[in-house]
Amino acid sequence: MTVDTDKETLGFQAEVKQLLDLMIHSLYSNKEIFLRELISNASDAIDRLRFAMLSDESLGENNTDFTIHVTYDKTARTITVADNGIGMSRSDVIENIGTIAKSGTREFFQSLTGDQKKDANLIGQFGVGFYSSFVVAERVTLVTRRAGFGAEHGVRWESDGQGSYTLENVDKPTRGTEVILHLREGEDELLDGHRLRSIIRKYSDHISVPIMMEVEEKDEEDQERTGFEQVNRASALWTRSKNDISEEDYKEFYKHIAHDFDDPLTYVHSRMEGNYEYTLLLYVPTRAPFDMWNRDRRYGVKLYVRRVFIMDDAEQLMPAYLRFIRGVIDSNDLPLNVSREILQHNRIIETMKSNATKKVLSMLSDLAKDAEKYQTFWKTFGRVLKEGLAEDEKNRETIASLLRFATTVTESEQQSVSLDEYIERMKEGQEKIYYITADNYAAAKDSPLLEIFRKKGIEVLLLSDQIDYLFGMELTEYKGKELQSISRGEVDLSKMADEAEKEEQKKQESEAQGLIERLKKALGEQVKEVRVTSRLTTSPACLVVDEYDIDPGFQRILKAAGQSVPTTKRILEINPTHPLILKLNGESEEKRFADWAFVLYDQSLLSLGEQLENPTAFVNRLNDLLTHL
Ligand code: ADP
Ligand code: MG
Repeated sequence: MTVDTDKETLGFQAEVKQLLDLMIHSLYSNKEIFLRELISNASDAIDRLRFAMLSDESLGENNTDFTIHVTYDKTARTITVADNGIGMSRSDVIENIGTIAKSGTREFFQSLTGDQKKDANLIGQFGVGFYSSFVVAERVTLVTRRAGFGAEHGVRWESDGQGSYTLENVDKPTRGTEVILHLREGEDELLDGHRLRSIIRKYSDHISVPIMMEVEEKDEEDQERTGFEQVNRASALWTRSKNDISEEDYKEFYKHIAHDFDDPLTYVHSRMEGNYEYTLLLYVPTRAPFDMWNRDRRYGVKLYVRRVFIMDDAEQLMPAYLRFIRGVIDSNDLPLNVSREILQHNRIIETMKSNATKKVLSMLSDLAKDAEKYQTFWKTFGRVLKEGLAEDEKNRETIASLLRFATTVTESEQQSVSLDEYIERMKEGQEKIYYITADNYAAAKDSPLLEIFRKKGIEVLLLSDQIDYLFGMELTEYKGKELQSISRGEVDLSKMADEAEKEEQKKQESEAQGLIERLKKALGEQVKEVRVTSRLTTSPACLVVDEYDIDPGFQRILKAAGQSVPTTKRILEINPTHPLILKLNGESEEKRFADWAFVLYDQSLLSLGEQLENPTAFVNRLNDLLTHL
């Protein structure tokens, strides 16, 4: 006997205990899902064996009648789920069952509040899988043997979920995994064939492997059992015709493949016939996975070839900006021995990806017809979808049509206005789609740059996500309408101004020439230009950037990313009728004039929601001026 076969007791990773406690509380009202989770794992294990057999047929051990068996024992008070899938080695068991290997675990535990009710809601997002057994079981035994290993390499794992588990080597002639639940007191109602069958049909009908249960004689007296019968339909869900699939089937299948406890938000199921034949069944989750912003997070689409599972997370099948999509693509044309390398530059894959992308975008367009559901989607995945403007030029206009914005018309932080809606509301003579970008919603909404637009009743999109600094660079026009940032270049609303206004503007410009020259001199290198504004009605001054200069917000992002970029000089625009500007004009002492000029510059910067380079200098100048008023 080697050390390896000795029985040993190991401690769970700290999080496992915490997770189990939380789960037992939160899942109790829906406790029968333990069976769904165990069957889901069994089905995954069979999928993985099928795939491994493509390169090593001997792993089948002359037993390729793949099945999942569910049995129960009233006397021992146990329920057993057994599969003849790939099984686990001793180290697999430690890694997969003793630790939570999922990415995002840390984030999950950090997001816990300690309030059991709130935390219970979070657990579904995490997907608890195997551990849900402990909701109904006080002790769980798992006996497994990895395909291709000798019978003596069986492993027996056991735990009461209280912080540790035991592990020992056992003989297991048959390949695969058996999970035995020793039920808690009071759970005997689960020891019933009808009950178990109905749970399986409800949650696991879509599983493509036959799930077998013993036939029970109707005669209650002698309970004789005469062999096994199949409980589920056992055909790959996506191969069935749509009419033959219920809403529930679709939802349960989603939970199985996405390892999610929530229903999906929407889905698309489509058989493609043309140069290549393939079927896709793709879902939008309701909630974001914890690791959505993790750069190397895995993608959620599984690749099958002629019903055989090939790989998880086939990132070649979805563009990065749709990385939240979950589901299955099953190809009839790819070779079964396809590898990740082959997928890189494969024409079939590229066609499938391009069509799948279009399908997803049109599914989202459909979803948008339901404003409330679409808000759920947008809040969760909108920022990811926006990445598509840069990533997917071919579908840019469609992606743009799916974007939603806060605007000056809705006066709400909620992003709910589409570009199409904006265009419908455009004023007579308005040619462009106007937007403003700021670091946060409040700064965008209260920006003085909006004054003239508010006065004229022109709607402006209020952008305040980090990624929005790229917006105007990627999307320069939509449906023939140019997009224009109101913080750059000159505003030309001349088509919408009346003659009197234009006259007035000209007059102001010529009258202010002297003042403008003095300001230029005082501010020197600080500004690119000083000019009379046509955008302000109530503020004294504002700062904008020249038409082709880099947006300062975007510059900050580049800097934060470690790139060296020259600082953009801004243009100071003044409102010559404002009392402060009039007062400034009358200031004859040059030092005080210069102080005023800098204060004006700095406060314009502040009203953009930005930080001053030298706040102390600003405060000192201001205090000086206030003292001498
Ligand atoms: P998930 O299924 O989301 O990965 P689970 O908690 O359900 O999470 O399972 C954890 C891991 O344990 C699985 O990823 C798998 O590696 C392993 N596992 C569980 N059940 C089985 C099984 N029946 N056969 C082989 N491996 C299994
Ligand atoms: Mg699982």
